[in-house]
Amino acid sequence: MATKTSHSKTIQKIGVLTSGGDAPGMNAALRSVVRSCAYYKIPCCGITRGYQGMIEGKIKPLGPRSVNNIINKGGTVLKSARSEEFRTKEGRKKAFANLQNNGIDALIVIGGDGSFTGGLIFQQEYGIPVIGIPGTIDNDIYGTSHTIGYDTAMNTVVEAVDKIRDTAISHNRLFFVEVMGRDAGHIALNTGIGAGAEEILIPEEDMGLDRLLDSLKRSKKSGKLSSIVMVAEGDKIGKNVFELAEHIEDNLPDYEVRVSVLGHMQRGGAPTCFDRVLASRMGLKAVEALRDGVSGNMVGMADGKMIFTPLDKAIKGESKIDTELVRVSEIMRL
Ligand code: ATP
Repeated sequence: MATKTSHSKTIQKIGVLTSGGDAPGMNAALRSVVRSCAYYKIPCCGITRGYQGMIEGKIKPLGPRSVNNIINKGGTVLKSARSEEFRTKEGRKKAFANLQNNGIDALIVIGGDGSFTGGLIFQQEYGIPVIGIPGTIDNDIYGTSHTIGYDTAMNTVVEAVDKIRDTAISHNRLFFVEVMGRDAGHIALNTGIGAGAEEILIPEEDMGLDRLLDSLKRSKKSGKLSSIVMVAEGDKIGKNVFELAEHIEDNLPDYEVRVSVLGHMQRGGAPTCFDRVLASRMGLKAVEALRDGVSGNMVGMADGKMIFTPLDKAIKGESKIDTELVRVSEIMRL
């Protein structure tokens, strides 16, 4: 079914939720939605724990003062959840009944592509206009150059790798640093360049074990005493980061190899200024979209400007890796 991308009703009350993995800046987006609603005199309700809270009726009115002092906070004060029940027709029926009971006739969903899929299905079934705001650290969503939380996560990674490098240099070690990105290498590629990594392994490129070995040999020959290899969770070599490290140690005994998996720390912390501004812009745009009769779209950023992409395109479209950055990374490791 094609996405309905416009509606003709005057919105009476907007419900807002955060869903899927949390991302720094979600609170700034929530604050923006609530205050933009207040500006346009549209009542606004927060739905706790994403779609699961919608099913359970965890809905409360929010005003400008309910979002004081959250712009600087990581995580999401609305809480997030993954809801299996929302994937079922019965679950969505309960959710719709709860929206009706609360007089909510439009939704703003802050989350990733799974959350947008759920929102789109809900819009198609019940005619509730939905606008998506991309909140995920992976930056893997088509229709925006940046998702909320991505910039913060990258800065967190770079800070961590700078510290790892101190110990790598002191002991002449080779560190494999695993960062988030099962399907997308944006974090690994950008932070790899930013932290001066010698090698970057991402899901979009198959470097191959032999090439990695050759490259590390060359690196050692050229006089490098320590090295950092950034590995995205979903890299194409097909080994997990520990097996990869073991393989290198077996084949390059000169190297003392260590592994560091950064894990969930990448999701946490205060959002950067960039993410706070992006979230503030996107929240306002989402409210204005619903007010202007737009539905079934995601707010995104392209060339620094706010744009819309139909939700089905945002979900299915590929967010491509920047080949210019791949080239930069290759030259910088010389
Ligand atoms: P992240 O990128 O951080 O994983 P996400 O939004 O992609 O975020 P998901 O767990 O994939 O996270 O999706 C969040 C929720 O959206 C799911 O728990 C489910 O409730 C809902 N959802 C996802 N796909 C569907 C679907 N096909 N039908 C109905 N609901 C869905």
